[in-house]
Parts: sequence; C-alpha cells; structure tokens
Amino acid sequence: MTSDYLMEAENLSMWFPLKKRDRNGKRRYVKAVSDVSFGVHGGETLGIVGESGCGKSTLGRTMVKLLKPSGGNIYFERQDVTSWDERRFRPIRRHVQIMFQDPYASLNPRMTVGDIIAEPLDIQGMSGNKKIRLEKIVYLMEICGLDKSYITRYPHEFSGGQRQRIGIARALSVGPKLIFCDEPVSALDVSIQAQIINLLIDLKKSFGLSLVFISHDLSVVNHISDRVCVMYLGRVVETAEKTELFKNPLHPYTQGLLASIPEIGGDLPDKENLLEGEIPSPVNPPSGCPFNTRCKYAVRECHELVPELRNSGGEHYTACLLAGNNGGIA
Ligand code: SF4
Repeated sequence: MTSDYLMEAENLSMWFPLKKRDRNGKRRYVKAVSDVSFGVHGGETLGIVGESGCGKSTLGRTMVKLLKPSGGNIYFERQDVTSWDERRFRPIRRHVQIMFQDPYASLNPRMTVGDIIAEPLDIQGMSGNKKIRLEKIVYLMEICGLDKSYITRYPHEFSGGQRQRIGIARALSVGPKLIFCDEPVSALDVSIQAQIINLLIDLKKSFGLSLVFISHDLSVVNHISDRVCVMYLGRVVETAEKTELFKNPLHPYTQGLLASIPEIGGDLPDKENLLEGEIPSPVNPPSGCPFNTRCKYAVRECHELVPELRNSGGEHYTACLLAGNNGGIA
C-alpha cells in the first residue's frame, strides 16, 4: 500500500461462484475482477474505462463494500477496511458514496425527493432537527440545480437528468470525500449528459471531492478525468495520467479503444483493426494475457504468461509483455 492515496485496492478480486460445476466436479466462477490494484488521490477524478462486461462496475461496487471481495484488500485513508462489517464501516461509508447508471432504479419510488436526499443524513444521524434537515435538503437541491418546489414530489415525476441530479444531491448530503459514479450518464441523452458531467466537475471543484468515474465511453472519460485506468476482462491493463494515456497509449487494447473514436484516436496509424472479435467469457478467460485472443501482436509467451502492470515511464503503467520493449508495440 502506498501512503498518498485516499482509497486504494490491492490485488482485489471479485469472483462469483456458479451453481453448476465443471465435468470434473470443480467449482466454476465468473471472474469479474481479478488481481486489480489501483488508488485514487484526494481531489482527483480517476476514470475507469472498458467495454461492457470488463468488470468495471463490479470493481466499483466491491470498493464501496456492496460486494464482499473474494481476495485482496481495500484501504481508506490507510486503514484496511476489507473485513469490516457494515456497522464498523458506517463512519467510512459517509465519506465514500456511490451513484448508479439507472437513477430511476436506484431511487425509492415510494419516497419523496426530500426524503430520498435526506436518507443518508438520517442513517448517519446527521439530519439535525426538522428545520435544519429541511434547510439541508433545500441547499442540496439548489446546488444540484433542482427547484426546491420539487421536494414533495416522487421520482417518477422527473426526467432522467433530473433523477440523476437527485442521485447526486443524495450522494453529497453526508459530505463525502469520494464518490464512485457508475456509468452516471449512460442512460441520458447527449445534451443532458453534458449538463450532468459539468455539474459533477463544478461540485468536485467546490467541495474538493475525489471522483471515480466508471464508463464505457472514452469521450466522456477524456472530458472529466485527471487519470485513467483501462480495464479488460477483469484486469487493469493500462493506467496513466489522462493526457499521457490519450496521446501515448501503449497497450494494444487501449490503442484499439482510442482508434474506434475518430475525434480522439484519429491520428493513431494502422490501429483500426485492433478490436476485432468478442470479449472472452469471464468464466473461462484465456490463459496468459487476457487480451491474447484479440491481439494482433500476440506471440507464444502471450499465451503462457499473465503480464503484470509495469512502469512505462513516470506515472504510466502497462500490462503487456511487448509494450515499450525495443521492437515492441509502442
Ligand atoms: Fe498483446 Fe501479448 Fe501484449 Fe497481451 S501481452 S497485449 S497478447 S502483445
């Protein structure tokens, strides 16, 4: 564990057991997250990006302890909170909030907007008396761009963008240090996406928040992030400061992702066919490098060795046996 992260994962794994065993009677698992290490600094926005099914949402849910990890450790402000039960973790939960992709599904349809926003305050015993509770709700609604007259309305009366604003107000209510944003704009129209992203950027600045922004959309990640982790088949394959990653991607998967977005990866030469084929099943990932079934650079060793994240210079790390070597990919 390094000391300057606000929150950190060390060799974190989240495997879900399947009911059906293999033909030899061996237990099978959906290996959603395997051996992931990363950290988020105070005040930064870390983007976590990858195709659907790469494990990024499971990683977020495991970090906020909605799931019990199968292996590895989670640290918050240098404390190992991995095995803490809900009661012990409650004071930390105040500082680590999460907002979800589908704001409708994540808001209780039987609660008013005011009660939804105040619920974390009530749980943490931070609501104060009735008047103070109301003032806090109104303040949170205002800073999230919600008219205070909505306070007695119900989630179904709002648009997707407004519901996401309610979700943000709720996450902010207890004064968190870090918010995991799990695909928070994927279900929204493009114009509304920009409003929500800009609101998150403004609130991050105003409150000195850290954000972990989980998304399949590289353009959005490019807009909001300071640093980016790229995930593939449950593993982090590349991480770097945003500008460095977008200018100098070293992992073939990152190169393929960027090349698939013309406005970002238009000047990447000869990288247009890097993402052919499907992501393998996380029940049966390939041996060796998880990307070897889709990688046009793969050599024999790629089928035998799992590449570790290695320093590629500065804060740039890449999990590829060939990246950065003489005669290699980059
Ligand atoms: Fe491709 Fe091999 Fe690098 Fe994996 S380790 S990304 S298969 S070159």
